[in-house]
Amino acid sequence: MARETYTARLERKDCISEPAQCYHFEFVLDELESFAFSAGQFVSAVAQDENGKQQTRAYSLASAANGNRFELCVNRVEEGFFSNHLADLPDLPIGAEIQVHGPHGHFILHEPITDSILVATGTGVAPMRGYLQWLFPANGEDRSNGKEIWLVYGTRYETDVYYHEEFEALALRKPNFHYLPTLSRAQESWTGLRGYVQDHVARIVEERAARLGLPLPQPPVDPMIPAKELSFDICAYICGLNNMVSGVRELLAGYGWHRKQIVFERYD
Ligand SMILES: Cc1cc2nc3c(=O)[nH]c(=O)nc-3n(C[C@H](O)[C@H](O)[C@H](O)COP(=O)(O)OP(=O)(O)OC[C@H]3O[C@@H](n4cnc5c(N)ncnc54)[C@H](O)[C@@H]3O)c2cc1C
Repeated sequence: MARETYTARLERKDCISEPAQCYHFEFVLDELESFAFSAGQFVSAVAQDENGKQQTRAYSLASAANGNRFELCVNRVEEGFFSNHLADLPDLPIGAEIQVHGPHGHFILHEPITDSILVATGTGVAPMRGYLQWLFPANGEDRSNGKEIWLVYGTRYETDVYYHEEFEALALRKPNFHYLPTLSRAQESWTGLRGYVQDHVARIVEERAARLGLPLPQPPVDPMIPAKELSFDICAYICGLNNMVSGVRELLAGYGWHRKQIVFERYD
């Protein structure tokens, strides 16, 4: 079946990290009144390469649903076709256009909202930004239900922490949102967290269990209970390159977490 493809007009493009060559994009779908999607889903962008071959790539929506607009966060991948095509799009004077279809994907928040650990590296933070806009709208009712929401965000250098000021401001506004950027190759002047995301996820899980008096590893779920009837008091949402996603999944499995508590999206 042919998918419905829309023309997205670029309204704004900002380089949010020169060293990492990462761009924030704002697009408008003029032909739609509203573009409905769940935070965390992705669009498929379509374009022809230099040989006339149609190329399609997935890009996470970096915003929550907002009328007929959506945002993306994309970094250039060396020798990659699509990321460079996007990064090279001119944004003035009329706005370049790209073709997209979607929304697609199941990397969405489970409801009712539980305590949640959001774990991202690099542009894997894009769907997390969408989640946070949905959970804590700037103008509108808080949907976090008072649950604890951690964002553990790993990059190599301070210059690659995308949307840093935005997440810091949110953490100041919302006491139940905890922003934990961690650098694996920090300069000496960095006073924040260091190391890989796994180290900090482990600390969150262990400290929370100790605080609530919960056993670790958590006891296994009764296999007779149908999956759709299971409910949990904490979930993890992991997004980034496969190595990191696998590492965090293994860590959580070691704490006895059930696979339904671990939602993930891999970019490679
Ligand atoms: C569901 C989903 C959502 C995605 N969302 C985003 C997003 O929000 N932002 C974003 O920048 N990318 C995202 N990606 C990755 C994106 O689809 C492309 O793979 C990426 O832009 C590279 O495409 P390319 O055509 O430039 O390179 P290609 O010519 O396709 O590939 C070049 C090589 O780079 C590897 N690669 C892919 N992604 C990365 C990466 N991020 N860093 C390093 N190497 C990589 C590929 O495995 C491949 O070997 C997502 C992927 C998936 C599956």
